[in-house]
Amino acid sequence: MEDNYLETLTRDISEASHKCRICMSCYADCPLQLSTRGFVTNGPTGITKALYYGILWDIQKGKETEDLREIVYSCTTCGACVLRCQKSACGLELVDVIEKGRRYLVEKMIGPLPQQRQALDAIYKYGNPYGESPEKRLNWLQDAPVKKLPAEQAEILLYVGCTASFEPELHPVARSVLKLMQGLNVDFGILENEVCCGDPARTLGDEFLFEEMKQQNVDKLVATGVKTIVTISPHCFNAYAKQYGEWSERFKVMHYTEFLAKAFNDKPPVFQGSLSETVTYHDPCYLGKRSNVYDAPRDLLKRIPGVKLVEMAMSRANSLCCGGGGGRMYAEVEETQRLSETRVRQAQDVGARIIATACPWCHMMLLNAVRDLNLQEHLRVADISELLAEAMAL
Ligand code: SF4
Ligand code: SF4
Repeated sequence: MEDNYLETLTRDISEASHKCRICMSCYADCPLQLSTRGFVTNGPTGITKALYYGILWDIQKGKETEDLREIVYSCTTCGACVLRCQKSACGLELVDVIEKGRRYLVEKMIGPLPQQRQALDAIYKYGNPYGESPEKRLNWLQDAPVKKLPAEQAEILLYVGCTASFEPELHPVARSVLKLMQGLNVDFGILENEVCCGDPARTLGDEFLFEEMKQQNVDKLVATGVKTIVTISPHCFNAYAKQYGEWSERFKVMHYTEFLAKAFNDKPPVFQGSLSETVTYHDPCYLGKRSNVYDAPRDLLKRIPGVKLVEMAMSRANSLCCGGGGGRMYAEVEETQRLSETRVRQAQDVGARIIATACPWCHMMLLNAVRDLNLQEHLRVADISELLAEAMAL
């Protein structure tokens, strides 16, 4: 079984490596080229080739192994290279290949990076990558009334996700989404015992753990009888909508920005105040490049009275990754120029006073960059839901 698993991964990586025309088009879009010294291994083809030769030469220990691990786990899985290769070359699914390489390294006990291993161990043990007690998961709710599934039944599940649940700075985001959904009078609830969707396990290459979390979630979802899943994080959205096999077909999965944009089209929201600010929107990779959702978040922002929405030089499919994807949230990755800081500078360049996003990871990466650059007085990082809830006085 293990041999077949490794053989299949090896074959897929080898095929991709041979199909690549080494045209290097994808390097122009890879964020690693902006944030590192720009070696050939700091980019899509270099990572794929490193994997191919690492496996071919059966690298098992020593400095080369550590170097290979650094290279393979440096990828943010932003998907820019996939879009570029589709447009300009041969349509290679580079993220898929890199994730397969990570599975290979996990199986060989080489990957992931040590801090990422801790996050995976925490999921095994506590059901979340932060090592927090499951009893704290609903702290964000502050006892606000909402249906708890499966003890109660509802049509729609609001899946909050680990980061919005456990990161105190993001509790206002979870509460804002909750209040916005309550304002719609839709039949929804949250899970009384939510666990991680498995996205970090999948991204970091721990397929066994991913399958375990998937099964736990499927059992919970079936018990609730819900038909629609609304997620706060684009990463949970990606997991439920695309990684759950046949189960991804059984549920309608929506990111909350899509859900609200559609609901507001049917019943426009009532605003009590305005937000006279210049706002720019940072496209989260898993919502934009990876899922093609660009308009719903912008439509929501444009509804807020007073908002002047400006676009950064890199936006929509050309958006710059915040640097937190691909499991990099859990580890320090060497960068000559932090992607999150570059992104904050890009927001400043267009005169934004608020950088809005719709992803808990982007939110934390950008917030930390603003603090590190000492720009708190000049630039606010906010989730779209927070801005809506404030303007609606919820
Ligand atoms: S664009 Fe595609 S074919 Fe060209 S180097 Fe990148 S992965 Fe290879
Ligand atoms: S997914 Fe993003 S970070 Fe990873 S190789 Fe492709 S462009 Fe670079």
